[in-house]
Amino acid sequence: MTPARPGGYVAAEAPARPGHDQIVLTTPDGAVLCNSLACARAGRAAELIVTYGVLNDPGASYHDRGALWRESWGRSYPLCGACWEYARQVAIRYRPGLTVIDHTGPAAAAQTCGGRP
Ligand SMILES: [Zn+2]
Repeated sequence: MTPARPGGYVAAEAPARPGHDQIVLTTPDGAVLCNSLACARAGRAAELIVTYGVLNDPGASYHDRGALWRESWGRSYPLCGACWEYARQVAIRYRPGLTVIDHTGPAAAAQTCGGRP
């Protein structure tokens, strides 16, 4: 399975494949513009590569009403900080069990936040 990349952008190999209700953050490999059209037009650089897992309940139908952003599952998008913050807030509202796996930190230690006690 080789998911198509949006806009011809080729993402670096993600260090981890996000699973159910997981989003992996990585650092852009070189200068890329934010995936948002408005940001790209403004020349705003992406700060993160956001790779979406399956934002749906395990075993749930693709068309389940709880499914979020089906078209983004398994894909990676470069986003600026503001766009990621907006996306994160929407994702957590619809997927309260969301786990964000942050591989962008200088310590390279995986941090998770949200959802899990
Ligand atoms: Zn942006």
